[in-house]
Amino acid sequence: MAFDYDQYIRSGKLPHIWCPGCTYGIVFKSLLRAVDSLKIPKDDIALVSGIGCASRLPGYVDWNTLHTTHGRAIPFATGLKMARPDKRVLVVSGDGDATAIGGNHFIHACRRNIDITVIVLNNFIYGMTGGQHSPTTPVGHMATTMPFGNIDPTFNIPELAKGAGATWVGRGTAYHVPALDKLIIGAIEHKGLSVLEIINACPTTHGRRNKFRSPTDMLLWMKDTALPASAFEKLPPEKTAGKFPTGVLYKREAPEFSETYFAMVERLKKQKEAREE
Ligand code: SF4
Ligand code: MG
Repeated sequence: MAFDYDQYIRSGKLPHIWCPGCTYGIVFKSLLRAVDSLKIPKDDIALVSGIGCASRLPGYVDWNTLHTTHGRAIPFATGLKMARPDKRVLVVSGDGDATAIGGNHFIHACRRNIDITVIVLNNFIYGMTGGQHSPTTPVGHMATTMPFGNIDPTFNIPELAKGAGATWVGRGTAYHVPALDKLIIGAIEHKGLSVLEIINACPTTHGRRNKFRSPTDMLLWMKDTALPASAFEKLPPEKTAGKFPTGVLYKREAPEFSETYFAMVERLKKQKEAREE
């Protein structure tokens, strides 16, 4: 039976804003299927975003949603999780929103290990605001703010998340859709801060400036450059040059922030009661 997307979509908000050939619709549908398979009731999930094309996603989904300010989705999500620790809290963000404007919030959420799933839709550019280079724009790529080719070295989002202390880190692409469904499920199921980077295509402000003749070319680039982490790790550096690993890239267990916080509150309450007896 075909998956019933309509049960989750705010049809009154359609048509969506995404350009023809944008891969955000692929990710949107993958997210809906993943959450549905986890059987999380609509009232028990919250999706928080900042600003940008990726951040318009919560507007289209009939869950608890917050569309906040640029780069600030993670602080809003942190407040939400602390107020309602019973809810599953997800953040959807772009590469600029998460790692430039919100970069400080991103790294500190990683080390805090609060139980939030951060999904970063990396399309290598600021799409909505007109094609400025972001921290993930590849060196040499054209952007409106790098008209002679980007000379800034890039962030590797999973490595950044791991280095900052995230306890689950993964990477998928908008091309490898069945694998993406599973990665989103894994990221949500993990207890602690999970970061899932999803490689996306922005044909409008990135692709057409960078010799991708069509959105299909961008998807084929993902097909040709992504390698499962298990295969990537076994290959010598000369065979992995220009490629990137996908799948669950890092995972560990560590105390979760809200549980640690509420345990501390209980401990202090008991100490206060003991003093007053
Ligand atoms: Fe997608 Fe780029 Fe268009 Fe934004 S500008 S909707 S990221 S194709
Ligand atoms: Mg972007």
